[in-house]
Amino acid sequence: LNRRLAEFGTTIFAEMSALAVRTGAINLGQGFPDTDGPEQVREAAVRALRAGHGNQYPPGPGIPELRTAIAAHQQRRYGMEFDPDREVLVTAGATEAIAASLLALVEPGDEVIAFEPYYDSYAASIALAGGTRVPVTLRPTTDGDASFRLDLDELRDAITPRTRLLLINTPHNPTGTVLSRAELTAIAELAVERDLLVVTDEVYEHLTYGDAEHIPLATLPGMRERTVTIGSAGKTFSFTGWKVGWVTSTPELVTAVRSAKQFLTYVSAGPFQYAVAEALALPDTYFSDFRATMTAKRELLATGLEDAGFTVFRPQGTYFITTDIRPLGFEDGFEFCRALPERCGVVAVPNAVFYDDRAAGAPFVRFAFCKQDEVLSEAAARLAKVR
Ligand code: PMP
Ligand code: GLN
Repeated sequence: LNRRLAEFGTTIFAEMSALAVRTGAINLGQGFPDTDGPEQVREAAVRALRAGHGNQYPPGPGIPELRTAIAAHQQRRYGMEFDPDREVLVTAGATEAIAASLLALVEPGDEVIAFEPYYDSYAASIALAGGTRVPVTLRPTTDGDASFRLDLDELRDAITPRTRLLLINTPHNPTGTVLSRAELTAIAELAVERDLLVVTDEVYEHLTYGDAEHIPLATLPGMRERTVTIGSAGKTFSFTGWKVGWVTSTPELVTAVRSAKQFLTYVSAGPFQYAVAEALALPDTYFSDFRATMTAKRELLATGLEDAGFTVFRPQGTYFITTDIRPLGFEDGFEFCRALPERCGVVAVPNAVFYDDRAAGAPFVRFAFCKQDEVLSEAAARLAKVR
C-alpha cells in the first residue's frame, strides 16, 4: 500500500457492519435504510433492464434523461439553472463525485479545508489527489439547541496562500448540523475574497427537520461560478446500493471532474440511471412524506437515547444522531463502540474516526435512524441497559 493510503486502513463503516453481522447486534452504525425506496422506482429499474436500456455502456456524462431530470430538480427546488448537456455529470455515487472533483481540481501540495468531523472519504480522496487536508473543527455548543457549529474566525485563520479548495458538507454527517444562511453567506464571502474553489456535498439535501432549511451554497452571490455541488440518489431515494450520484457546476468545472471520472469508472451503471431519472420527477409529496417519516424516526431514537442517559445533539438534518457518552460514565467512543454489541446488542460509530484531533472527537458516538420503527424501539430498549 502506498504512502498516500497507508494511514486509512479499513473504513469504519465496513468494520462496524462486520461487527454487527458477527455479533447479531442491531446495526445503527453504517448509514443505510433497512427499507428500500419507492416501489415504482424499483420497477422502473426492472423495466429498463428488460427493455435493454442501459445494459451496454451509457454515455460518459450520464444518460440525457437523467441529466435533464437533475437539471429540472435543481430548477424546481432551488430555482437554479443548469444546462443538462454541459453542466451536469452523473457519477458512481457521491463517493466518486467527491474523489473525481478532488483529483481534478487539487494539485499536489494544495491545501483543502474540510470541517471536522469529516466524512471519511474526504480525507482519503484529498490524500489520493496529493493534497493536504486542513481540518476546521465544528464545536459542540449548548446555548439554544445543542449542536455542532462552525467558528468563522477559525475558518478564516485556516486559509493560507496554499489553500485551493473548501470542501463543505451540509446537512453535515455525522453531526446533523445544517449550515444557516448567515453561515453560508460568511463562507461564500471568504471563498470569493480568497478566490477559492468550493466542493459542496449536499447528499442529505432532502433530509432536514423542523425549521432547518437546506440552502445550496451555489445559490449564494459569487458562488455559482466556483462551486461543484454533489447529490446522490442513494440518500434521496433510499437506494444506496445503486450508486447513482451527480455533480452540477459550470461547464469548465464539470469538464474537469469528468476528465477524472472517465478514468475512474468511465461510466455509471446504466439501467439505474433510467430509474433515478423517473425518481427525480416524483411529485413533491414524495419528498415531504420522506421528510415526515424521517422526522418521526429522529424523534423515536433521540428520545430513546435521552432516556438511556446520553446527551443528544438533535440533528437538523441527515439520518444520524451524534451523542455524548460522558453522562453515562464513559470517555472513549472507540472502546464504547467496540464493547456495545456485547454490552447491549447495538452497533454505533465512534465519531473520533472523523477527526484529526482524535481527542476532540473521543466522547462522541453516532447512531443512524434510517431504520424501521420496531428496530429503533428495540435498539432504544437495549440501550436503556447500557450503564
Ligand atoms: N457524502 C456523505 C456526507 C455521506 O454520508 C455519504 C454516505 N453515504 C456519501 C457522501 C456517499 O454517497 P454515495 O453512497 O452516493 O456514494
Ligand atoms: N454514508 C454512510 C455513513 O456515513 C455509509 C457509506 C459507506 O459505508 N461508505 O454511514
